[in-house]
Amino acid sequence: MDTDVLIVGAGPTGMTLANELLLAGVSTVLVDRLAQRSDLSRAGGVQSRTLEALDQRGLLEPLLATGDHPVATGHFAGIPLPLQAERHCLPWRSVPQVVIEGFFERHLAAHGLHARRGHELVGLAQDDDGVTAAFADGTALRSRYLVAADGAHSTVRSLLRAEFPGEPGTLTIVAADVRLGGSDPSTAHTWSEDGHWAALFPLGTDPRGRQLRRLVLGGPGRSLPREVPVTEDEIRDGLRTVFGTRVELLELRYARRITNASRQVEQYRHGRVFLAGDAAHVHLPLGAQGMNTGMQDAFNLGWKLGAAAHGWAPGNLLDTYHAERHPAGAAVLRNVRAQSLLMDWAGTRDPEVLAAREIFTAMAQLPQAQGYLGDLMSGMAVRYPMPGTTSHQLVGRPVPDLDLGPDRVHELLRFGRGVLLDPADRFADAAGPWADRVDRAGKGAGVEPMLIRPDGYVCWAGADDPEAALRHWFGEPR
Ligand SMILES: Cc1cc2nc3c(=O)[nH]c(=O)nc-3n(C[C@H](O)[C@H](O)[C@H](O)COP(=O)(O)OP(=O)(O)OC[C@H]3O[C@@H](n4cnc5c(N)ncnc54)[C@H](O)[C@@H]3O)c2cc1C
Repeated sequence: MDTDVLIVGAGPTGMTLANELLLAGVSTVLVDRLAQRSDLSRAGGVQSRTLEALDQRGLLEPLLATGDHPVATGHFAGIPLPLQAERHCLPWRSVPQVVIEGFFERHLAAHGLHARRGHELVGLAQDDDGVTAAFADGTALRSRYLVAADGAHSTVRSLLRAEFPGEPGTLTIVAADVRLGGSDPSTAHTWSEDGHWAALFPLGTDPRGRQLRRLVLGGPGRSLPREVPVTEDEIRDGLRTVFGTRVELLELRYARRITNASRQVEQYRHGRVFLAGDAAHVHLPLGAQGMNTGMQDAFNLGWKLGAAAHGWAPGNLLDTYHAERHPAGAAVLRNVRAQSLLMDWAGTRDPEVLAAREIFTAMAQLPQAQGYLGDLMSGMAVRYPMPGTTSHQLVGRPVPDLDLGPDRVHELLRFGRGVLLDPADRFADAAGPWADRVDRAGKGAGVEPMLIRPDGYVCWAGADDPEAALRHWFGEPR
C-alpha cells in the first residue's frame, strides 16, 4: 500500500476529512485536479453544528481569527430564524468557503500534509485488500480506502456507476458577491409585488474594511442557462426591481448561476470506496447547508476510517457511515424542497403558495417552531440511529458542551479520541482495556455518565456498565 487513505478532492469535505485522519494518525494522500486552490467564495456560512465540531478540534478560534466573520441570522425559506442560545451556543457565522479552504490548507501543511495539486483521478479498481487509483499523468496509487470528495460532478461516482437519483435542475438563480451602496436593506429576504426577490447575507469585510455581501436574485424571467455569464446590468436590474433606487451596486466581485438540481447517491459506501460531500448529495444551497453537510460527512467518516486503518474497527463500523449520513443528507434535501416551495423562488406568485407562506411565517414566530427549524437548519437536529445501544434521550445526539469543572467536554474531544464521562469514578476497571482509544474524564462533575464518540456524538448514557457500548463502538481491546 502507498497509503491508508486516498482522498480525491481538496474542497471543504476533503480537507476536513484529511484533518480527521491526521488526528487519527492514519497515512493519507489528498489529491486535487486543480493546480491551484479556487479563489471563489462559494458557501458563505458555517452552521452551529459545524462550528461545534471545529471547536471540538480546537480549530474554531484560529479560524475566526482569520478575519471579520460576523454572527448572522439564519433563515428558513427566507423567514429569519433567531437561534436559541441554549441549543445553539455557537450561532451561524459568516465565513466564506474560500477562507475555510485556505485555513485548512495552511493547517494541514503545518502538520506535514500537503495536497497534491494538478493530480486528476481518471481510473479506479478495487479488490479485497485495497483500491488502485489511476491519474491523468499516468501515475497510480494504491490505498486501503478511497474517499470521493470530488464534488457534484464526481469522477469517482461515475467510475463506480453509482446511482445518483433525484431531480435535474429546472431553474437557475443568480448568486453574487457584491459591495452595495445606498440605504442598508435590513431584511435578509425581500420580495417585490411581481414575484422578484433578493436575499442578502454578510460576507465580512475586504482588506480595506469595506462590507461585502452575498446577493442571491431570482424571479420571473431570471432563470437563464447556467453557462450564460451574469452581467453587472443584470444585477443592477435585479436590485432595482426589488429595492427600487434605495440600493446601488458599487462592485460586482463574482457571480454565477446555481440550479435547483436535487440528488443523493443511493449508497455512500461501495466496498472500500466512500462518497462524501457534494459527490454524495447536491441541492440548492438554501440556508448554507451544502458545505456544512459535506464537512459533517467528513467528521462522521474520519474516525471510523482511522479505526479501520488501525485494525480495531468493530465489524459494521464502516457501514454506519451510510446508515448515519444518508438519512442526514436526505433530511437536508427535504428541507431544501420545502424552502424552495415556500420561497416561491421561481416567482410564480401562486396564491396557494403565498397563502401557505403567510401561515408558515406566522407559525415560525412561535418559540417552539423556531427551535425546531433552528435545529433543522443548524445541523443540531441530526440524531444518528444507533441500534444495539442503550436508549437514552442523549444517545445519537451531539454532546452538549458540558462544564466539567477544569475542562469543557468539547475541549476533551480535541485529540479525536472517545471520551467516557465517569462522574462517580466507577468505570476505571471497565474502561481500562480501551485506554488506548478512549479517555476517561469528568470525575466529580455534576453530569450523567456517558460515552462520546470521537465525532462528538453520544453513543451510550446512563448508569449501567459501559462495557458493551465500549465494545460496540470501539471494538475489541488489544
Ligand atoms: C456559486 C456557488 C454558491 C454556493 N453557495 C453556497 C452557500 O452559500 N452555502 C453552502 O453551504 N453551499 C454553497 N454552495 C455549495 C458548496 O460550495 C458545496 O456544497 C461545497 O463546495 C461542497 O464541498 P465538497 O468539498 O464536497 O466539493 P467541492 O468544493 O466541489 O470540491 C471538490 C474538489 O474535487 C476536485 N476534483 C473534482 N474531480 C476531481 C478528480 N477527478 N480528481 C481530482 N480532484 C478532483 C475539484 O477540483 C474540487 O477542488 C455554493 C456553490 C456554488 C457553486
